Amino acid sequence: MTRLIFLGPPGAGKGTQAQVLAKHLRISHISTGEILRQAMKEQTPLGIKAQSYVDSGELVPDQLVQDLVEERLSQPDSVSGWILDGFPRKVTQAAFLEELLAKTDQGGERVVNLDAPDEVVIARLLARGRKDDTEEVIRRRLEVYRNETAPLIDYYGKRERLLTINGNQSQEEVTAELKHILAS
Ligand code: AMP
Repeated sequence: MTRLIFLGPPGAGKGTQAQVLAKHLRISHISTGEILRQAMKEQTPLGIKAQSYVDSGELVPDQLVQDLVEERLSQPDSVSGWILDGFPRKVTQAAFLEELLAKTDQGGERVVNLDAPDEVVIARLLARGRKDDTEEVIRRRLEVYRNETAPLIDYYGKRERLLTINGNQSQEEVTAELKHILAS
């Protein structure tokens, strides 16, 4: 049973690696950013509420993402394992998740911290060109990452569940390293 949380700055390769790994392990890949983008595209109530936050690089309110994660983790395809990509993003969300997993008997999760230096992630994001990948919004997302998300490295480090991987390598090298670590 594999349950993984991917941490790391935007542009470190979380989405790509989570997708490859989830397919390889036949478990669900739950990207809160992807779910929000889809909801925005379809202009659902969730999408409409999230739009201004996502567009400016701010975090959407906890309740919105927490509800969607709770819903997603209760679905049958999550029973055999999952990778959370982009959640939790702050300590309050991590505390929520911890409680949710305890309540639903889904413990044993491991946390992968995929790290890469600022100049590398900025170059990657500018090349990707998503709507929220403008220089100004990227700067804000990195700031939010540093202030809100990076403290989770310590949070999970203290629980001895943290693996750190150098995201400043080729996609194939990172995948190989992840598979190696998870097999052990
Ligand atoms: P991502 O695709 O993970 O880079 O997320 C894109 C955007 O979605 C972020 O900049 C936030 O605005 C929003 N978002 C995704 N996940 C979360 C989360 N766990 N908490 C709050 N906002 C989130």
